[in-house]
Amino acid sequence: MHRAAFEHADLSGQYTAVRVPAADLAAAVQGLRRPGVLGANISLPHKQAVLPLLDDLTPAARVIGAVNTVIHQGGHLTGENTDAPGLLADLRDLGVGHQHLGANHQHLGANHQHREERGGGAVVVLGAGGAARAAVYTALNLLERDVYVVNRTVQRAQILASSWQVAGAARRVRASAATDVPWPDVILVINASSAGLDAPEQSPLDPACLTRLPLDALVYDMVYSPAQTRLMADARATGLTAANGLGMLAQQARLAFTAWTQRDVPVQVFRGALDAAQSGPRP
Ligand code: NAP
Repeated sequence: MHRAAFEHADLSGQYTAVRVPAADLAAAVQGLRRPGVLGANISLPHKQAVLPLLDDLTPAARVIGAVNTVIHQGGHLTGENTDAPGLLADLRDLGVGHQHLGANHQHLGANHQHREERGGGAVVVLGAGGAARAAVYTALNLLERDVYVVNRTVQRAQILASSWQVAGAARRVRASAATDVPWPDVILVINASSAGLDAPEQSPLDPACLTRLPLDALVYDMVYSPAQTRLMADARATGLTAANGLGMLAQQARLAFTAWTQRDVPVQVFRGALDAAQSGPRP
């Protein structure tokens, strides 16, 4: 994606993937301070471990507690999280958030729009790792929704939820068993767990829960390979709209590219590179 973006922007940069063992993380981050290095993306399993190695964090990265993008300026390293605004941008493209429900973006229908205009509709986040923290930030801080966190290990969901319990906050984050979620009030389910990533037949959610969602709810799976996960197939079989995380992947990359180069490259350039790599458009 970034190679296509450099080409589009007529810049001569390079983007290289490097596997870094945990023991070498500090040295690898130190290496980013070299002149000519614009920054880096940080992926699993270092998104949280990298925090103390950086000079500074953006407010969003601090709240989320995870960094996926490092920006280098004159020897100074800033940690940013573009997963959250990348997710928001893709959700908006899919019609979530009434401010952006334009003529081309009404995939979710009039009921969804009316529910949003009434201010109703909660978000369920599946998972409790770094991606889930970005999803909670998006749902609570950016979409301003109540959030239910459902995770295989309940204790991790409780820890995540309690880290957002700010006294007097208008919206709330609650850890919940799937069976206790008020499904008819949910407008959006975000899978931020890695279920379905290595075992395509695995879903993080009992399909019976999906049948209780309103038909205009969106099921969003951050997993993008396979292109249709078990969760997405179950949602579609129930008549719901489902999307994978390819759009988020492109949007978070676009935001990181802009942070490094101060150049705005259209998201279609990133999507085009992804579609070419995955040989076909998003299902
Ligand atoms: P992580 O920190 O390792 O967290 C993984 C989470 O998945 C944990 O909550 C874990 O539950 C849960 N989980 C794993 N296997 C499961 C299963 N079989 N059933 C139910 N839950 C399961 O990983 P992460 O960094 O948060 O990433 C999570 C996913 O998001 C990955 O698939 C990643 O590729 C994706 N992601 C996508 C984008 C994008 O741009 N589209 C960006 C970021 C991340 P326990 O707590 O019980 O272990």
